[in-house]
Amino acid sequence: MALRHALHLLRHGGLPGQLVIQLTDRCNATCPQCGMNINERFPRHSLPLNDVKRMIDAAAQRGIAAVSFTGGEPLLVLRDLVALINHAGVAGIAYIRTGTNGFVFRSHEKHDFPDRIHRLAETLAATPLRNFWISIDSADPVTHEKMRGFPGVIRGIERALPIFHRYGLFPSANLGINRNLDGPGSIPVLANGIPGDKGAPAVIFRERLHSGLSRFFQFVAGMGFSTANVCYPMSIADDGGSGELNAVYGATATSAIVSFSSREKAHLFDVLGQSVRENRARLRIFTPLCALDALKRQFRHGERGYPCSGGKDFFFIDAVTGHTYPCGYRGEEDLGVFGDRPAISAADNRACYACEWECFRDPSELGGPLQDMARHPIKCLRRWRKDPGFIKLWLKDLQYYQACDFFDGRRPARPERLRRHARGN
Ligand code: SF4
Ligand code: SF4
Repeated sequence: MALRHALHLLRHGGLPGQLVIQLTDRCNATCPQCGMNINERFPRHSLPLNDVKRMIDAAAQRGIAAVSFTGGEPLLVLRDLVALINHAGVAGIAYIRTGTNGFVFRSHEKHDFPDRIHRLAETLAATPLRNFWISIDSADPVTHEKMRGFPGVIRGIERALPIFHRYGLFPSANLGINRNLDGPGSIPVLANGIPGDKGAPAVIFRERLHSGLSRFFQFVAGMGFSTANVCYPMSIADDGGSGELNAVYGATATSAIVSFSSREKAHLFDVLGQSVRENRARLRIFTPLCALDALKRQFRHGERGYPCSGGKDFFFIDAVTGHTYPCGYRGEEDLGVFGDRPAISAADNRACYACEWECFRDPSELGGPLQDMARHPIKCLRRWRKDPGFIKLWLKDLQYYQACDFFDGRRPARPERLRRHARGN
């Protein structure tokens, strides 16, 4: 399947499309890092089932390969969610994803917990869902549970995972990087200065981050996860670029927990790259090294990697209006109802690097070299000669993705293949 999409890309020069559909902005969690948490007072909306079905049909016609159903909390609209996953499968969408904040794993001590989880796992496993994520915010269980407002949920997830595995669903642990990564305030603020310096505060920042990430990967592997993904910090008031954006997607906040300066991001993407490398034999970690390297260079040296495909091949549908945007963060660019071709093709062609939304930046960086090869083979070869380091990382990522069965969440991890890949690298 992945090979088919790579060939499509080489033939047509565009990335396989992706549609992120925010089914609802309702949520029952208390995450301080998110503007949709239950304590925020604003009118909540969910998209009507038939409207979303029409969008999916239009997406399939347009050759979109991936659909993510996000929220708010998608499992609050479980019945619609299941109907839509089935609809997308029938329409021919190959990569269907959704996830949860974990509220369904509360109250694990109650006698009906196993039955409840069996029913949920069976329901989801009967659909063509490919990937199911569960958010985990910290390597410290108490911190995670406090942030989400779900006491005891970590134990519930640990009990639920073997049940999911029995139904052939292998959820991934989804970390949104924040300063509580290894316990409250464990990642210190690194005051502004010269980017990339080696002074004591920078060393402490890097050490804490590295230790937090290592503990996180160990922690989720110990819980029973076989896959992990890392979401880069998204704040709407930092000095790293995102501050200029007008987020239509409420999964952003001004909270200091997710606000990292450009100087911090230069370190963050470097340390994250190191940690991903170190843990690739332990877990299937989606985060590509080539994207981390490009982001590190962006913040360290002002270099530009492959531009984001938001608004070209990737789009975001907002739960309030049901309208399409180039992504969740370019809220000024309302492209109307998805399927309205003139509106979509009106999306501008600017090269955007304004934020680090990993849903769009990671696949843009991964697909960039193939897209380049299809469109400008000579320019592409010149670039590769000039920057062999990037292409080496990219090839390493592809080999690793192959060892991970291209993150097929319906297949168990194959630890021996992961170890073999790590030994070879
Ligand atoms: S991060 Fe997710 S779970 Fe937390 S408040 Fe936001 S939408 Fe809800
Ligand atoms: S980089 Fe991508 S996700 Fe971020 S604002 Fe630009 S188009 Fe949107």
